[in-house]
Amino acid sequence: MHPPAGAVSMSKVKFFSGENVPLEMHKVRIVQKLTLPPIERRLAAIQEAGNNTFLLKNRDIYLDMLTDSGVNAMSDKQLGAMMEADDSYAGSETFSKLQDKIRDIFGMEYFLPVHQGRAAENIVSKVFVRPGTVVPMNYHFTTSKAHIVLNGGTVEEILIDEGLAVTSTHPFKGNIDLDKLQALINTHGADTIAYVRLETGTNLIGGQPHSLQNLREVSTLCRAHGILVVFDASLLADNLYFIKTREAACKDMSLREITREISGLVDVIYFSARKLGCARGGGIITNSEDAYLKMRELVTLYEGFLTYGGMSIREIEALTVGLEETMDEDMVSQGPQFIGYMVEELSRKGVPVITPAGGLGCHLDAMRFLDHLPQTEYPAGALASALYLVSGVRGMERGSVSEQRDAEGNETYSNMELLRLAVPRRVFTLSQLKYAVDRISWLYENRALVGGLRFIEEPKILRFFFGKLAPTTDWQSALVAKFRADFGDSL
Ligand SMILES: *Cc1c(COP(=O)(O)O)cnc(C)c1O
Repeated sequence: MHPPAGAVSMSKVKFFSGENVPLEMHKVRIVQKLTLPPIERRLAAIQEAGNNTFLLKNRDIYLDMLTDSGVNAMSDKQLGAMMEADDSYAGSETFSKLQDKIRDIFGMEYFLPVHQGRAAENIVSKVFVRPGTVVPMNYHFTTSKAHIVLNGGTVEEILIDEGLAVTSTHPFKGNIDLDKLQALINTHGADTIAYVRLETGTNLIGGQPHSLQNLREVSTLCRAHGILVVFDASLLADNLYFIKTREAACKDMSLREITREISGLVDVIYFSARKLGCARGGGIITNSEDAYLKMRELVTLYEGFLTYGGMSIREIEALTVGLEETMDEDMVSQGPQFIGYMVEELSRKGVPVITPAGGLGCHLDAMRFLDHLPQTEYPAGALASALYLVSGVRGMERGSVSEQRDAEGNETYSNMELLRLAVPRRVFTLSQLKYAVDRISWLYENRALVGGLRFIEEPKILRFFFGKLAPTTDWQSALVAKFRADFGDSL
């Protein structure tokens, strides 16, 4: 029915050999030296970090696949633009350029700059979420949920059931289930719904996209009930690629046309420019003067004056160019095509991964990878620790460690236990991905050696950032011994 993961490609280049190679449409102009410390050092490093990959130091890491946030490669044009920055507290020409670019791409009148995505979430939640209100969404993101809850709201996930199926051929696992949305409107009444949030390129379920058609239907239903639609566009670049390549009715639309149609269907767009636009910053966009005026006060209170919003002026220049580059098919295809390659290679070797391939990274299914571990021992956290140990590759736990305890202090286990291996845009080469695939396959062969983790230091809020864990047994030494037996003195 649907094309297999990774087979769809915007690339016009076919290989004579028939091999499916994601060909780069850019060249490397600036490089950064990498080191790969020996496994004994990696063991010490992961122990010092409390088995939390957030606490590792860069000097101990070979491939940093923690995140795509703020670490995408910039283009020569972005770097060049940064030299032209018009730095002033108010009235900066640089800001006017960004505002014009936003109006051009999104076709909306008002733009508010913020220092990063969660700052936009703080402001949107403070303005629209009241105690007792409900925010239906396809799926939560850590910081989006935290801000809604902090303001007294409740998150209701109304993702299609298929969205939580780890292996699937559904091309749009990030879609909202319209029946679930209608049922929530019936139960709570439209007035109790603060807004409906649609997250594009749905992060925590594996960077899975929604279709344009789904957004049209969500928008129609919300408008019929006078409910605002808020669109988290942080991962828009990937979702644009998937709409273009997987949604037959959109294959002849340009990325600009798809983006314009999206903006016409929503009331507020916000984004992290650490992802969208390959810079560092964020923004809120709307056509509603009323919404703009309400949010504007909070920007000056929390972020900075309206012509920089906590961003450096140089980053604003880079963002303006980066947003324009997001309208380039070569640019948006690179990430999803590299991820598609990794997912295909791992699937071929029998390693459990999320399918179809999504955006932002390749996601290992720790629940099946380590099916001997109960969720109480944090399989995704254990897999993150084990993979770093055997490869120097740093991934991010996206499972129960990333959840927080409920009001009574009980664990809330996540629907999925994932190890996310982010593939920042235009950063890695194909041989580096092959290395990661190789070590992951070795670890899969030796998965029985991997044991669980338990918290030894557990912060109350966003515990995954600073929490420390210890292995439940001395499984890490056994893994090091097996690595040495198989690889000799190789790194
Ligand atoms: C990263 C991200 C955010 C938060 O952005 P920051 O810049 O990290 O604060 C919000 N929503 C989604 C979907 C994201 O991926």
